[in-house]
Amino acid sequence: MSAINLLDLLPAELEELAVSLGAPAYRGRQIAGWIYRKGVTDLARMSDLPRHFREALAERAAVLVPVVERRTPSQDGSEKFVFRFPDGARVQSVLMPDGDRLTLCVSTQVGCGFGCAFCFTGTMGLERNLGAGEIVGQLVGVAPALGAGRRVTHVVYMGMGEPLANYRATVKSLRLLTDPLGAALSPRRITVSTVGLVGGIERLAEENLRVNLAISLHATSNEIRDRIMPVNRGFAIEELLAACRRFPLPFRQRMTFEYVLLDGVNDRPEDARRLLRLLKGIRAKVNLIPFNDWEGSGFGRPPLPRILAFQSLLLQHGITATVRWSKGEDIGAACGQLREAVPA
Ligand code: SF4
Repeated sequence: MSAINLLDLLPAELEELAVSLGAPAYRGRQIAGWIYRKGVTDLARMSDLPRHFREALAERAAVLVPVVERRTPSQDGSEKFVFRFPDGARVQSVLMPDGDRLTLCVSTQVGCGFGCAFCFTGTMGLERNLGAGEIVGQLVGVAPALGAGRRVTHVVYMGMGEPLANYRATVKSLRLLTDPLGAALSPRRITVSTVGLVGGIERLAEENLRVNLAISLHATSNEIRDRIMPVNRGFAIEELLAACRRFPLPFRQRMTFEYVLLDGVNDRPEDARRLLRLLKGIRAKVNLIPFNDWEGSGFGRPPLPRILAFQSLLLQHGITATVRWSKGEDIGAACGQLREAVPA
């Protein structure tokens, strides 16, 4: 029988496990405290648990933290972590410091099956989904590298994979991250980014998770979006934006629209004007991402004046638009560049 990964279990489920082993429920809460507050993942070091309980627990379960196989710091202060799971699958996570803020970008799948034309990760195809504990394991796995007193303050689901294509594990990982007895992150500090799976957005709207949503839009006409994002052939832009309009945004929060600027493809003033029309009636902000080139992509980054002109057109019409010069560009960790070979 394979061991239960305690990172897969919500604090309430840890309580049930404790009870099933003949211990009081609060022992489950103590385990969660050790893992998420004290950063201790070795059951033998959970010193306020009775020894016989720890032994019984160790026979059934373990805290399976993915192994940090490689860390690559970037000149801009971000750092890429390559994590390896017991089956040899690897994913990448990126830690991005910004003042008091420490954001972790997590992966939800090994590879990705959506094949967006501008995305390096998409070229590796989908290897497999991650489990909830494997998603949360990336947060637990970076903790020892942070130094005393430092914690991840924000989590973005923008690494390898499409979170809503791995719906159950993504939602459970969000519950683990936001449970007051678990990682206890505010949902406002978590952003789930999706390529625009309409059914997934609608299901997520019903979960009452109150996390932020980011939509990888990247084009303003179905013709261009069909070309660069095959997913659009299943869900047209109008359908996607209708689902966004229905999404219950928490008070004062705005939905983020990611827009990678590709030279000569989607970067003209008429694209910016069409974007303005599409976003009417949505509390939106736009992240413009000048394309991060990779060999063989067939795309280029627009010249700086065109990037700034696109941004200023949005700003003039009252849409908050920031240009995100992706972090980690020099280490292959910027948006759409994450890729890790999986040994056969
Ligand atoms: S942009 Fe996102 S959805 Fe598209 S291929 Fe890359 S990882 Fe997959």
